[in-house]
Amino acid sequence: MMRTLVVASRNPKKVQELQRLLEGLPYLVQSLAAYPGMPEVVEDGATFQENARLKALAAASYTGELAIADDSGLEVDALGGEPGVLSARYSGVDDPQARDVANNALLLERLAGVPHARRTARFVCAVAVADPTGVLWEGAGYVEGRIATEERGPKDAFGYDPIFLPEGSDRTFAEMTAEEKDAISHRGRALALAKEFLRSLT
Ligand code: IMP
Repeated sequence: MMRTLVVASRNPKKVQELQRLLEGLPYLVQSLAAYPGMPEVVEDGATFQENARLKALAAASYTGELAIADDSGLEVDALGGEPGVLSARYSGVDDPQARDVANNALLLERLAGVPHARRTARFVCAVAVADPTGVLWEGAGYVEGRIATEERGPKDAFGYDPIFLPEGSDRTFAEMTAEEKDAISHRGRALALAKEFLRSLT
């Protein structure tokens, strides 16, 4: 029987990416949607890595299964690394639908007048794999780029994708296909490492 791997997130767009990136592994991949009773994890870590550990450990101990968590976000150099670990909650808007739009609008406003050369930023993705006994593996992936001056791409894109131009590209992440984004993204890179570890467990 295939071992279960729980993706420790309730963000549908993130879960979709993680499930896609975990394809091909000999695990039955489930998200927290399959465990509606699990309490919300308080993400009060000071770093992406710490939050990834908190989420993976909470999911593993609640479900009794192997769990993988990603804590990710955007670091903008001209804003001293903000929004960083607060990326999801940057604008303070709670509603998940309205949140991405509000976060992007706020970031563009804070960068108003900042020239192209100083709009450098990176996406960071910290990953932790845990089982009920503790953390088994940790790693991270990064992608460097710049913040565009306007949103580009579909309206229902994930998070900051409509305003992130990966280095060397004139298209935002939101304008790329899933395969194009996965090949260079912070999450794609972190998951490539996590996959090697998960394969070694089977
Ligand atoms: P987390 O769920 O606490 O890790 O929050 C991650 C937040 O960072 C998301 O809600 C997005 O705002 C942002 N983020 C992380 N990865 C991406 C990505 O690949 N594209 C766009 N936004 C991202």
